[in-house]
Amino acid sequence: MSTAVNFFWFRRDLRINDNAGLYRALRSGHPVQCLFIFDKEILDKLEDRDDKRVSFIHTEILRLHEELRKHGASLIVRYGNPLEIWKDLVNEFKINGVYANRDYEPYARKRDKEVFEFLKDKGIDFKGFKDQVIFDKNEVVKDDGEPYQVYSPYMRKWKERMNDHFSRSYPVEKYLDHLFPYSNPDIPSLDEMGFKKVDPGVPQRTIPKEIIKSYDRTRNFPANEEGTTHLSVHLRFGTISIRELTRVALDLNQKFLNELIWRDFYQMVLYHFPESGEKAIKPKYDRIEWVNDEEAFQRWCDGKTGYPLVDAGMRELNETGYMHNRVRMVVASFLTKHLLTDWRWGEAYFAKKLLDYDMASNVGGWQWAAGSGMDAAPYFRIFNPESQLEKFDPKGAYVKKWVPEWKTSDYPKPVVEHKKARERALEIYKKAVSGGDQ
Ligand code: FAD
Repeated sequence: MSTAVNFFWFRRDLRINDNAGLYRALRSGHPVQCLFIFDKEILDKLEDRDDKRVSFIHTEILRLHEELRKHGASLIVRYGNPLEIWKDLVNEFKINGVYANRDYEPYARKRDKEVFEFLKDKGIDFKGFKDQVIFDKNEVVKDDGEPYQVYSPYMRKWKERMNDHFSRSYPVEKYLDHLFPYSNPDIPSLDEMGFKKVDPGVPQRTIPKEIIKSYDRTRNFPANEEGTTHLSVHLRFGTISIRELTRVALDLNQKFLNELIWRDFYQMVLYHFPESGEKAIKPKYDRIEWVNDEEAFQRWCDGKTGYPLVDAGMRELNETGYMHNRVRMVVASFLTKHLLTDWRWGEAYFAKKLLDYDMASNVGGWQWAAGSGMDAAPYFRIFNPESQLEKFDPKGAYVKKWVPEWKTSDYPKPVVEHKKARERALEIYKKAVSGGDQ
């Protein structure tokens, strides 16, 4: 192909509107060809051939392709190892530059570095842009330049720095005539990649303003399906823009805004502590002598612990790929404290099941629950799953929905007794945390 093009590589930003990297590519002076790669490295690791996330991404890719076609362009979609695919593309196209939005996960950073080095050798620039968060890297740090380890001062600094510049949308639509008019409708099917098509059950791609308005009053009650926005999966795959959502949050509800800031916070933590998926952020916590009882873990996974709120949450997760935040906190605390099971087991189970699985928030949430993470609650504060139930599901409506046999003789007896489990957790945690310096 003789025309020099710039590539825009979609990853976790599956939308055309308000897309930072796509906007920059379109304004670069060269026609832009869009690309998506189904990464074999990632897909091969998925256990279920009917993984809902793969179906969701595939549907979104077809939608993107259709949108681009309306502008006389197309989406090149490949399946394989990203570096190998770039090796093919540089032979097929005359590439001037490659544009993409930054991804802060360790695997993505390693992949991007390899692609960057390869393209650099070919004299091709690979440029990364901030898109999926409001602030990244070192944009919100302590006065001494060090990353924050505690959420509240981070949140205050975030709000101080916030202005229209950071929440403004990129007017991509003005420049869509800069797309490269190339037609290549060959999109690999789910079948070709070894996956089955399933209905992922993802909610609408619209921002529910009414829910956001009353969020501070409704957010803690899992029985209320309209108490939170269910936007996490859209934020994960970039099917809605964080800037658009942040503007709504700034207008309508500070509590909701604070949750979006937690999301930025965890992305920042993962960026600065890339090993936090494997290691406790507070190293002492890696000394905990986990019990890791496989049978108890299985009961937790299956929602059969005999603790109704825990069981309801796990069954909701298994069935839908979603779990309410309050319940995520309760089940994670139960696993790490009551069952003294390594948080990494729980993190991996969530990674397998959550539609909105996002390494930064998941590792952040699990390390928070285990006490080892940033701004985690002190280890001796252990959720009582029964009082959490009384407080946040007082009529038992959430539990009844997911655990129909609750209060019948079919319902399992508790896997551990609360008081004893609490004392055991305190003892084991104390032993790990109180000895030595680290
Ligand atoms: P809403 O309450 O409507 O909040 C709006 C958005 O704010 C969410 O979509 C999410 O992007 C962000 N948000 C809200 N709460 C948090 C939080 N505590 N931390 C970070 N971001 C937040 N969230 C994920 O997106 N992916 C995960 O893999 C994930 N794993 C978690 C694991 C544990 C153990 C815990 C305690 C929390 C986890 N969370 C995760 C955070 C939170 O539970 C979900 O973001 C939220 O429940 C999604 O529902 P929603 O979209 O209705 O949220």
